[in-house]
Amino acid sequence: MGSVLSVVNNTAVQVGQGLMDTYGEVSLMHGDLNLLERVWASYYLYMGNDVVASGLLVFLFHEVLYFGRSLPWFVIDAIPYFRKYKIQDNKKPNFKEQWECFKTVLLTHFLVETVPIWGFHPVCSYFGIQIGVPFPHWTTIAKHIAIFFVMEDTWHYWMHRGLHYGSFYKFIHKQHHRYAAPFGVAAEYAHPIEVALLGVGTVGMPILWVYLTQDLHMFTVLIWIALRLFQAIDAHSGYEFPWSLHHFLPFWAGADHHDDHHHYFLGNYASSFRWWDALMGTNPNYKKNRAESQKQAKLAKAK
Ligand SMILES: [Zn+2]
Ligand SMILES: [Zn+2]
Repeated sequence: MGSVLSVVNNTAVQVGQGLMDTYGEVSLMHGDLNLLERVWASYYLYMGNDVVASGLLVFLFHEVLYFGRSLPWFVIDAIPYFRKYKIQDNKKPNFKEQWECFKTVLLTHFLVETVPIWGFHPVCSYFGIQIGVPFPHWTTIAKHIAIFFVMEDTWHYWMHRGLHYGSFYKFIHKQHHRYAAPFGVAAEYAHPIEVALLGVGTVGMPILWVYLTQDLHMFTVLIWIALRLFQAIDAHSGYEFPWSLHHFLPFWAGADHHDDHHHYFLGNYASSFRWWDALMGTNPNYKKNRAESQKQAKLAKAK
């Protein structure tokens, strides 16, 4: 594994030196590195322990991005202008249920994710994920992330479909279906076993990839985790806009796809893409149902 220390070994970092001083030192000795690479190298040098550095980084990164990305959806829910874009427009989530959901998700993160996150670096290190600088070229990062999206989506489709069978649904997946009209922060509202099982798709696929190719950087893994989180939160937002991504990438799933899964419980099992549901015939025409129920509501109002 390419330790940061081995890459910036000309840097005379003193024990107990501050983060800013470390950054200054790295910048002085390694003017060829870009800003992000210098911050990255300084952070690992400053921490002085790669296991703690990676564990803390991944945990905080996940918390900040998860709740940070959920917040705009919470605000949008409170603004009447956006109601016309809500897929299930008769079901506005109330503050109390969102608050309850937030607390449960936060607790689950601490209970389920802290231990694996502390084991994250040793596992990454064992399989050969790089942490050194400079980072890979952006085209390599983009290629790896595209591959992870496809791999995770496949894992998610089959595991999620399996979770809808009998006891698996009753004892595990039912928790995630508590909200028939989901909202952003409900993305990771799930039984701990489900969090772990579906988490394999997000964390296990990069590990499988590096095991097969010996070509992956931790920075790429972080960007992937961020994009996968955004995908999951946005899919639970409950909003469909004229500018939603699936209008430009027809195979992209988005809220238009996953909201119906929560509404009707069956079909639309995949996470990011529509091809598995299309291929396996688990993509009923929910849009027809939506149009029909809107028509019924209008008729009822007119009476
Ligand atoms: Zn489900
Ligand atoms: Zn869901």
